[in-house]
Amino acid sequence: MRKKIVAGNWKMNKDYNDGLALFSEVINMVKDEVVGDLKVVVCAPFIHLNSLVGLGKGYDKVSVGAQNAHQEEAGAYTGEISTSMLKSINVEYVILGHSERRQYFGENNALLAKKTDAALENGLKPIFCIGETFSERESGEYFNVVKSQLAEATFHLSADGFSKLVIAYEPVWAIGTGVTASSAQAQEIHAFIRKEIAAKYGQEVADNTSILYGGSCNPKNAEELFSQADIDGGLIGGASLKSRDFVDIAKAFN
Ligand code: PEP
Repeated sequence: MRKKIVAGNWKMNKDYNDGLALFSEVINMVKDEVVGDLKVVVCAPFIHLNSLVGLGKGYDKVSVGAQNAHQEEAGAYTGEISTSMLKSINVEYVILGHSERRQYFGENNALLAKKTDAALENGLKPIFCIGETFSERESGEYFNVVKSQLAEATFHLSADGFSKLVIAYEPVWAIGTGVTASSAQAQEIHAFIRKEIAAKYGQEVADNTSILYGGSCNPKNAEELFSQADIDGGLIGGASLKSRDFVDIAKAFN
């Protein structure tokens, strides 16, 4: 059975103390309230990660993730962080291929294939993001766009490697815009993604792959989105910066 996951992406928000306070609130709410059988992942800026891993010890439902990592193990890459460094502080997940990384930092599928390899070699679980722009949706190109993002960056993996990935479908036009894909739109493309995975790796791998929806998910729309057959959770940006909203989204699975 595939895992249900609600992952928060804080992006470049929260100073050190505010980040620790937010994470502690999330842990306490997840501990004290009825949150269903799911994994809550908090993907924070690098400066927070070591402390968050420490605070999260003993809370099985909550894991910590990074938002990016470099593809090389070590070396003269000023300002970068490697997957082995993340592993050394017991970070469990890493977001790869977020549309902001693709748009502002020129990350393409070939580079993301290398980052995915590096993450898997160091035992991290990639949350691999794919999704089309507004014009690609309007032109009807979105199936092809999503298919090539997935195939070019991840279909070189063995079935065993691929089965360690979490896929996040995030239509770029819905990220941070307040516009959400309708549950029917999201379900349509999630089912398509699962079909592509099945064609490459077989139905069992496809059925066990968690596919998250991301894009202006909030406590009001989460339940409807998460009720769709092929939506296994969410990648949450803005709403993950408020503990109450984030945990209410997680509780939409109850
Ligand atoms: C994201 O950045 O991954 C995201 C989904 O952002 P938001 O929820 O703010 O649209």
